[in-house]
Amino acid sequence: MGVFDHPEFDDHESLHFINDAASGLRAIIAVHSTVLGPAAGGSRRWSYANDAEALTDALRLSRGMTYKNAVAELPFGGGKSVILASDTAPKSPELLTAFGRAVDSLNGKYITAEDVGMSVEDMRYVLKETKYVSGLPQSGDSAGGDPSPWTALGVFLGIEAAVKVRLGKDSIDGLTVAVQGVGHVGAHLCRLLHEAGVKLIVADVNRDNLNAVSSAMPVTVVAPAELLYADADVLAPCALGNILTAVTIPKIKARVVAGAANNQLSTLADGARLSARDILYAPDYVINAGGIINVSHEYYGGSSDDRVRADVEKIPLRLETLFAEAKETGRPTNELADEYARRLIAAG
Ligand code: NAD
Repeated sequence: MGVFDHPEFDDHESLHFINDAASGLRAIIAVHSTVLGPAAGGSRRWSYANDAEALTDALRLSRGMTYKNAVAELPFGGGKSVILASDTAPKSPELLTAFGRAVDSLNGKYITAEDVGMSVEDMRYVLKETKYVSGLPQSGDSAGGDPSPWTALGVFLGIEAAVKVRLGKDSIDGLTVAVQGVGHVGAHLCRLLHEAGVKLIVADVNRDNLNAVSSAMPVTVVAPAELLYADADVLAPCALGNILTAVTIPKIKARVVAGAANNQLSTLADGARLSARDILYAPDYVINAGGIINVSHEYYGGSSDDRVRADVEKIPLRLETLFAEAKETGRPTNELADEYARRLIAAG
């Protein structure tokens, strides 16, 4: 498959293929758009089946960041990087610093942070080589650090908003939420939901993450293959993308899908499939913007947790506006969100 004619290419401004023989680093940095500011988006380390799969993921994720940052009204364009995980290239200080040098070589066109497979500790190595990195702990109550609690807060508030619209309930107390993936974001989300009186159904392919959550609060654990079809009011995907498909959607029982995972829809048409089944879908990049909001406050500096919170609290209002438009027009929420994002970018 070519690059410029790749189905997900979508006019990316630039793509950077990184190969550092000494550390084994192989990575792709995708810069989708710098129209609204430097291309910001996390770095994902994942074991891809092949290079083509890594490229597709990078392209889809970086375009999603352009839309996410625009809708969240952040002074950022969109980009993303993927690091190809393999046994011959384990995560090491050398590999992470090589990645930092690659980011630095773009002179601020791309700003990185944590995503799946990357931690705050990893970002400390990246910081040794570049200032174009965020998601690092700050002193006092200055904004910054691990973005995942903020992502979880935005998702939690978004679930409340979706439940109000779809189920007509002012409280989520007593409802059941199925959480797919209890890693960084999923675990924080489970805690918030548990404190709000929600019954939890969870699944994860990682035993340690599953044990951490199930020893901290009451949860019903199901097999990963069953989670999407759990008997729940809300499905909160917090693992990886491409899970809402022509095959899975007909079997989903939840009436709301609202979670943190990026690229939950396999194709655009899957938004219409959800809508046809009267399942209210909170577009992923609208509901999961809490983390990048925190990154933005950290990167531009001089901010506080209170200001981050105030911005994260705007997420449910954006969703309510989309939900109302979807109800009025009968159109899927994902299409309305994409159109809104594109209008903002076109307006520069
Ligand atoms: P993470 O790696 O900490 O957690 C992901 C979890 O999902 C892991 O525990 C993993 O084992 C699990 N998982 C993977 N495949 C699974 C499957 N088939 N079934 C069940 N569980 C599975 O990542 P994270 O930072 O929590 O991010 C979760 C999702 O949210 C990702 O899609 C990420 O891109 C998105 N996201 C994260 C942030 C953030 O602030 N970290 C911000 C926006 C979006």
